[in-house]
Amino acid sequence: MKLILLGPPGAGKGTQAEKLTKYLTGLHVSTGDIFRYNIKNNTELGKKAKSYMDSGKLVPDELTIDLVWDKLDSIDKDKSIILDGFPRNLSQAKALDEGLKQRNDKIDKVINIAVDDEVIIKRIAGRRVCPNCGMSFHVDNNPPKVDGICDNCKHELIQRDDDKEQTVHKRIDVYNEQTAVLIDFYKQKGILTTIDGKKSPDEVFEDITKSL
Ligand code: AMP
Repeated sequence: MKLILLGPPGAGKGTQAEKLTKYLTGLHVSTGDIFRYNIKNNTELGKKAKSYMDSGKLVPDELTIDLVWDKLDSIDKDKSIILDGFPRNLSQAKALDEGLKQRNDKIDKVINIAVDDEVIIKRIAGRRVCPNCGMSFHVDNNPPKVDGICDNCKHELIQRDDDKEQTVHKRIDVYNEQTAVLIDFYKQKGILTTIDGKKSPDEVFEDITKSL
């Protein structure tokens, strides 16, 4: 099964992707995580991506699309894949479709996690992530067992640079201007399900699994 998780920043895509990865014994492919890994390791890609990410803009397609194919082509074809944060605009979606067609493959399902702007801003302000293993938490909705410490690997949690308020507004604008069109793109293909992302992470997960 190949799944795409769509939704604005803060919709809970990362959290649901982690749950779905376990549920489907699949692989979570997050372009945001790949960029953050490259920034942390100071690679050429990381250096190029950083300024776009810090200002809330999309990293250019020519950097992003090849990177996704490198990743997807390294994964066993029978494995379930949960794409989180890709595609992010129409040209990425078309490149993904085209590339999968060439590989006799396709996207089976697109889950659109819908959440209002006010909820997003509140959520992102409380979001904390583990820079070591990537697990995400929320100070109110999904707190770690020990304040500020990752449940999974015990590393200290941080707030992502692009989760600071000004950048969040820019990321929401970018989502509305470039990513939201993908809802119609996948609706027309008949593979889109919209889920109410205001519910708790467990309830959202239940709604997602029911729709699969
Ligand atoms: P995310 O963790 O998915 O919220 O992504 C964080 C940031 O990484 C975004 O604001 C973009 O700057 C960049 N990014 C992630 N995925 C993509 C993508 N598919 N295309 C372009 N930029 C991306």
